[in-house]
Amino acid sequence: MRLLLVEDDRMIGESLRSALRLEGYAVDWVRDVAAAKATLSTERFDAVLLDLGLPPGGPKDSGDEGGLGVLRELRSREDTTPVIVLTARDALGDRVKGLDAGADDYLVKPFELDELCARLRAVMRRHGGRAQPVLSHGGVTLDPSTRQVTRDGVPVLLSAREFAVLEALMQRPGALLSRAQLEDRLYGWGEEIESNAVSVYIHQLRRKLGAGFIGNMRGVGYFVGPAPGDGSA
Ligand code: CA
Repeated sequence: MRLLLVEDDRMIGESLRSALRLEGYAVDWVRDVAAAKATLSTERFDAVLLDLGLPPGGPKDSGDEGGLGVLRELRSREDTTPVIVLTARDALGDRVKGLDAGADDYLVKPFELDELCARLRAVMRRHGGRAQPVLSHGGVTLDPSTRQVTRDGVPVLLSAREFAVLEALMQRPGALLSRAQLEDRLYGWGEEIESNAVSVYIHQLRRKLGAGFIGNMRGVGYFVGPAPGDGSA
């Protein structure tokens, strides 16, 4: 899962980014309206965490709405990426404006990381249109809420990054995900990508879930479920 964090407060931003990375999210962090708009117009994210009180970071007229302007611009392009607005305790009007402008949810600062993670899972689940939150395939189940994985009913212990790779693959059975797409789910900007990391996680997952559980097309990518391009499946 790749997140964009838009937050100008350095302490909040740093602590959120490291906490979310520990949870297995790839987190990119920008600090002003101009950077947020530029990033969202060129990159795809699974969800956005958006502070409302933000400096413009560019021409004044592009930033006087703060985070709300970022949200409005996103929605005006019919971009439905889930957005959770982060607001100050006393800013009731901001929350209402945020929801009216197309936010999926909001959190009042300060909040617990557990609550943020639960809301992230909920908005992404709604966004994906999956009524059944537990992913299941070939005897393996993955519950995004509890982060539990079982194989034939027996719990399997995965690291945060193994879990992230497996979740990406199980969300779209039969879809081929390239190494670069999987790296995107694992790493934020500026994080050093360990060479061969994806192969290592795939190797660990096969060891834990069965050698045949994750397929690969050499040089193209990895998949779970029916082989991509197999029309008979
Ligand atoms: Ca702020």
